[in-house]
Amino acid sequence: MRIYENYSLLKHNTFNLDIKTRWFVEYESEGDLQKLLKDEYFLSQPSCHIGRGSNLLFLSDFYGVIIHSAIKGIEVLNEDETHIRLKIGAAEIWDSFVEYCVENRWGGVENLSFIPGEVGSSAYQNIGAYGVEASDCISEVHTYSLKTGEKRIFSNEECNYSYRHSFFKMQENKGLYYITHVVYQLSKQPEFKLNYGDIKSYLEGKEINLQTVRKAIISIRESKLPNPEILGNAGSFFINPYLCIVHYESLKKQYPNIPYYPVNEKVVKTSAAWLIDRCGLKGKTLGGAAVHEKQPLVIVNKKNATGKDIALLAEEIRKAVYEKFKIELQSEVIYIQ
Ligand SMILES: Cc1cc2nc3c(=O)[nH]c(=O)nc-3n(C[C@H](O)[C@H](O)[C@H](O)COP(=O)(O)OP(=O)(O)OC[C@H]3O[C@@H](n4cnc5c(N)ncnc54)[C@H](O)[C@@H]3O)c2cc1C
Repeated sequence: MRIYENYSLLKHNTFNLDIKTRWFVEYESEGDLQKLLKDEYFLSQPSCHIGRGSNLLFLSDFYGVIIHSAIKGIEVLNEDETHIRLKIGAAEIWDSFVEYCVENRWGGVENLSFIPGEVGSSAYQNIGAYGVEASDCISEVHTYSLKTGEKRIFSNEECNYSYRHSFFKMQENKGLYYITHVVYQLSKQPEFKLNYGDIKSYLEGKEINLQTVRKAIISIRESKLPNPEILGNAGSFFINPYLCIVHYESLKKQYPNIPYYPVNEKVVKTSAAWLIDRCGLKGKTLGGAAVHEKQPLVIVNKKNATGKDIALLAEEIRKAVYEKFKIELQSEVIYIQ
């Protein structure tokens, strides 16, 4: 177990904010974690478990314990002719895991190529892109409870997954389960999902296999999203909002091009990026923060922004969208203070 005092989180958040935490604790095994969960000083402090910090916004220095898992490794649990089940340490880098699956010709997660972050958070967040969600392939999530110190294994059903949501993100469970491993089930006979975004047109005339799909997705993402190493950001700042069909129909009269993704008979999803763009906010700045010029759903750290600059800009976006469309945007990025 590694413990650091007054530690900079600069390398642990993709907004590239140079904030500090009073304590930073990194555990390397389940044994380490069990010890930590019995430590009275630790249990008396405010704490937050992080992954790579690619979906977090620190509003100020953290006066408590930031915890990070260093548990790595990929273990084959079982396999047959059609499927393989792998147990992956929470600290494995998500995209390296996707690359490993693609190289071994195991399908299921290729559309989630190039999403920053770690395997542990993929299960917490239910990451999604190009018509696929992590929960489509998650079989089990192995955790320890902060409250009882005991191990609990969640089945996919128990994780209560939906769009960018899970049991672990529910208000009453937030921060209470530390994920040590995730079990993914992958297919040896992959079925490709290509009807989303620009994948189909990108792959036109090319052979379709796991490698080419992954390559297409990486290329599309690189052309659309700023690289956090160059321009700090946390990907989409807001979740695409759900609207009741009556609200959607009334907006459609005024804005015939408003995007429409059916959810069920009564509910549709629309595009947060489109709403922000229609408010004329592309490129808007506040302090060192800015709405990205190409992708208005992304807020970037343009020039030494503080967490508060970013939060205030997000608030202005939220207000503008509400005034124009009467839609309340919810943030996908998690605020930590
Ligand atoms: C450029 C860019 C593009 C992105 N594109 C996408 C995208 O297409 N789709 C998408 O879904 N997301 C996307 N994201 C968001 C981000 O990549 C995901 O949310 C990712 O899962 C975050 O991983 P992380 O390891 O950085 O987690 P963090 O941001 O550190 O943490 C996220 C949450 O998970 C919790 N957590 C992390 N690890 C553990 C653990 N081991 N145990 C318990 N709780 C834990 C944290 O407490 C926090 O609540 C993007 C981000 C960026 C910067």
